Amino acid sequence: MSSLPSLIGLTKDQLYTAVADVGEKPFRAKQLWHWVYCHGAKEFDAMQNVSKVLSEAMKERYTLQRPGKTLHQISSDGTQKWLLKFTDGNEAETVFIPEGERGTLCISSQVGCTLTCSFCHTGTQPLVRNLTAAEIIAQVMVARDTLGDWPSGDKKMVSNIVFMGMGEPLLNMDNVIEAIHIMLDADGLAFSSRRVTVSTSGVVPMIYELGKTVKVNLAISLHAVRDDLRDVLVPINKRYPIAELLEACRQYPRATNARRIMFEYVMLKGINDSNADAQELARLLQGIPAKVNLIPFNPWPGSHYECSDWDRIEQFSDRMFDAGISAPVRRPRGRDILAACGQLKSESQKQRKSQLVQITEPGNIAA
Ligand code: SAH
Ligand code: SF4
Repeated sequence: MSSLPSLIGLTKDQLYTAVADVGEKPFRAKQLWHWVYCHGAKEFDAMQNVSKVLSEAMKERYTLQRPGKTLHQISSDGTQKWLLKFTDGNEAETVFIPEGERGTLCISSQVGCTLTCSFCHTGTQPLVRNLTAAEIIAQVMVARDTLGDWPSGDKKMVSNIVFMGMGEPLLNMDNVIEAIHIMLDADGLAFSSRRVTVSTSGVVPMIYELGKTVKVNLAISLHAVRDDLRDVLVPINKRYPIAELLEACRQYPRATNARRIMFEYVMLKGINDSNADAQELARLLQGIPAKVNLIPFNPWPGSHYECSDWDRIEQFSDRMFDAGISAPVRRPRGRDILAACGQLKSESQKQRKSQLVQITEPGNIAA
């Protein structure tokens, strides 16, 4: 494996600089960008309209390498999961959930998560570090490589991207924003901002920041309607309680009836699943362009919650519909390969500080 950095994940500005550094004109950067993000090129030599001189110069400085794959599993329901290994040996998971001809890619923003929500497997992982923008984008590239989803046209197999894998995206704001800019760039991956969703457990100041910076959809992991319970399920609630969280949602600039905020609500037997909880949830969401997604709890080895019974989940959903709020139940996908919501956890171990410095170099994602 080459020790050169990969071009994948460089921002457009960084690519322009890289091209200028080898004495080439800016339009050459545009060509490279197109080959990388519209065609998924893996070799500089495959870039037909790129001059030999430029491709040789780039080869000396960069690769087009993706991270290594430690694991690639396909569930009986078609869901696919990749465990990617980055240069420092850390790993993160990416999941593709097919829906007919297309599907949603669920990507990670961190290795592990600092937030220790009591029902989530990722929160039990001791090591946490932010993923670089390059590592976030590499997940999209690897998925599209495997799915044969190049060149990118209007009909992408990966049609939607959700930041619902490992980690809390709003605690890795700069890199997540940088990655979103690359995803939305019209000359490259060209995802519509309506098809990219950031899910957060409620880092309130960063919700305001996100709203100001990029036009993506927002999902909130609510899971409880009272602060005393939410403090236990989603401990960041102690810092940013429900009222503050919902105020940030009211002010989210992209929230309209055509573009609702998704409230995720994990169904935990005997904990948060009563009719009274449903009523209170409907009351709390009054005045917010909201839809609710009920997530049957996905157990993981050692978890001590149970999933609500099916008829309880249906009754809860009916109550929400009666109150005028759409609340479908999310069908669990990829359970047999531990790819469902909240089951992601890698075995990455603590790394040395010196390694951390290394991985912050842009584009350095090869395993
Ligand atoms: N950190 C972000 C995004 C990743 S989690 C967040 O919390 O929003 C994606 C979703 O899966 C969140 O709504 C999370 O609360 C939910 N989840 C976590 N563990 C789960 C489990 N065991 N069963 C079902 N959903 C779970
Ligand atoms: Fe982190 Fe989200 Fe899991 Fe909570 S639910 S521990 S915020 S990944």
